[in-house]
Amino acid sequence: MNGCKTFDHYRIKLIVVLFISFLFHLPSESTAATKAEISKFQRSIVDYRRQLNPKFKKIRRANTNYIIVHTSELSLNSTLKVISKGKRLPTGRKTRGGHTHYVIARDGRTYRTLDRRYVADHAGKSMWNGKTNISEISIGIELVGNHYRPITRHQYRSIGLLIDILQGVYSLSDREVLTHSQVAYGYPNRWFRKNHRGRKRCAKNFIRSKAGLGPTWAYDPDVRARRLMADPQLADVFYGRRKRQTKSDETNIISKSNTAWSIAGEDYDKRITVYKFPNGHTYTGDQISEKIGWHRLPAKTAVLLNQETSMEETKDIGPIKTIPVGRSAWSLAGKAYNRKTTIYFLPSGKIKYGSTISNWGNLPVKTKIIIGYRGPFKIRKNRTAYHIAGVRFRDRNTIYYLPTQKILAGNHIKNFNKLPSGTLIFLPIS
Ligand SMILES: [Zn+2]
Repeated sequence: MNGCKTFDHYRIKLIVVLFISFLFHLPSESTAATKAEISKFQRSIVDYRRQLNPKFKKIRRANTNYIIVHTSELSLNSTLKVISKGKRLPTGRKTRGGHTHYVIARDGRTYRTLDRRYVADHAGKSMWNGKTNISEISIGIELVGNHYRPITRHQYRSIGLLIDILQGVYSLSDREVLTHSQVAYGYPNRWFRKNHRGRKRCAKNFIRSKAGLGPTWAYDPDVRARRLMADPQLADVFYGRRKRQTKSDETNIISKSNTAWSIAGEDYDKRITVYKFPNGHTYTGDQISEKIGWHRLPAKTAVLLNQETSMEETKDIGPIKTIPVGRSAWSLAGKAYNRKTTIYFLPSGKIKYGSTISNWGNLPVKTKIIIGYRGPFKIRKNRTAYHIAGVRFRDRNTIYYLPTQKILAGNHIKNFNKLPSGTLIFLPIS
């Protein structure tokens, strides 16, 4: 009896399992895009090619063997700017743009940044299956966002359609769609004594099935052939037994398993990477080894990528800048952060010159900064704004600090006669 019951039970279970697996193995037409969808998507692509840096050298690609997926680690505006115009490298050199063929925004909107016939400078130091310089034989797609946050469903939809189209054009299989983090490699460093994976974290959060992609490599061919050392975290993500990385990897917060290296890759010790400690102190990557020590980074430190480019984004908002949550003084003032002419207005009401601040980690959020200024000059009864600033007293670059701790630009002051005595003026140097 018992055995019979178990058998029945087993049979029902089997039927259910078969039915479910049937559902999952329905012909792919059920999810594949229709021709109409594809052509609608194609027409929706924004042509951004005219923004390309004229100094970028267009070279026709002889072979197209791969499609490489990236995450940009920047906002949409910064992504488009960097991709098209170029970026400043830690060495100070500026690149010439042409850093990918397509950019896909968080809302799925897709931009064509470079004609796909040309070589884009997108993969850097890279190797796959023994072949190096993957940029020369691949198409690059940038997804706007971070490698530690989910890619949006709009992005998955667009990249799915885009990959479909490109696979048709270049006869590429699903195996030939890879992420930048899979193909990038780096030279030996403090963590690896030989050439290794892990230089880039780009698109490690890319879930292939969500883009309609099928099977891929079950192993890293260059690690297997001992050309490269594996990066343990990435190896686990791409070739590990567990299906996807655990949630803890998908953050920019430091933990035992999520190190500075696993979050920032090769940029871990660069000035563009900012470490925000749980106590609110912030340091740039180039300050850590000297001031803190890499092994002493506190758990729960947030790692913020590409802060330099984000800095350029906020440059044009007028002379008074505020340190936002998660940013350092450096991200606002750049090299000028510790100069006498960079003036800090602390929320406590204190005013400090960059040259007199020693504990940069202690700068509170909401500190305001003006860069390239001299002062203060005090307004008194017989010394008006006009006496101090001359004809530029109404100028947007002339800064007023009221006794109420309000900071105003000259063009925002309505009645200069009502400026309280004791108001301080700061004048731009140039
Ligand atoms: Zn990348």
